[in-house]
Amino acid sequence: MSTLTLTVLGCDGSHAGPGGAGSGYLVRDWSSGTSVWLDAGPGTFANLQRFTDPMALTAIVLSHEHVDHWSDLEGLVTAAKWTAAFERAPIPVVSAPGIRHRLSQDSEGIFDWLEVGDGDDAQVGSLRLQFSRTAHPVTTLAVRFEGASEVLGYSADSGPRWPLRALGQDLDLVLCEATYTDDYAESDDIHMTGSQAGRAAKDARARRLVLTHRWAKIPADAVLAEASAMFSGRIDSAEVGRGFSL
Ligand SMILES: [Zn+2]
Repeated sequence: MSTLTLTVLGCDGSHAGPGGAGSGYLVRDWSSGTSVWLDAGPGTFANLQRFTDPMALTAIVLSHEHVDHWSDLEGLVTAAKWTAAFERAPIPVVSAPGIRHRLSQDSEGIFDWLEVGDGDDAQVGSLRLQFSRTAHPVTTLAVRFEGASEVLGYSADSGPRWPLRALGQDLDLVLCEATYTDDYAESDDIHMTGSQAGRAAKDARARRLVLTHRWAKIPADAVLAEASAMFSGRIDSAEVGRGFSL
């Protein structure tokens, strides 16, 4: 039985759209109580609190230094500083380089930073994490989450030059960025279109695809249609509050 779940806290690409939130997800392994805040884009701290106590997180994982993937860490630091009940060991932050020193507040005693890079792995509660550097203008790490019997993949931000199959060809669900449609494609080293995400999921032999990081002005249906033409497995569009069970 599946024990791994993914909850979308924010899925707008590059900046939060009207009423939306930037990139952020809650990954939970219910068999062990492990809970991970994966990327912390603007608006996601508010949504995180709808689903779990942020002070009880097992860890935070940050894919890269673009602010739409981490700026709400500031909210957690402020909340922790003024929460009398913050009497736990610092929360581990497993992070790509370039973020720690950009925080405006001192996170001493609140966060325990571990910087990781391409090919590294880390153990977070019951989950084994592995990182793969993607095709994006700054060092950006895609993440493989391996539980006892399920595997989740997260592309982070990437253009199609990076092969999604670098996360393995046994993904039960892949959360893949699809920022725009083919009409708006830029370079191979920034973001993917719906078609490119679908092709990448097929190439990785993923079982299920969830499209995320869509530019707010591009219709979800258009991106989904492109991906569906390339990938025959189940495809969904990420939406704030939506949960997926692996
Ligand atoms: Zn980015």
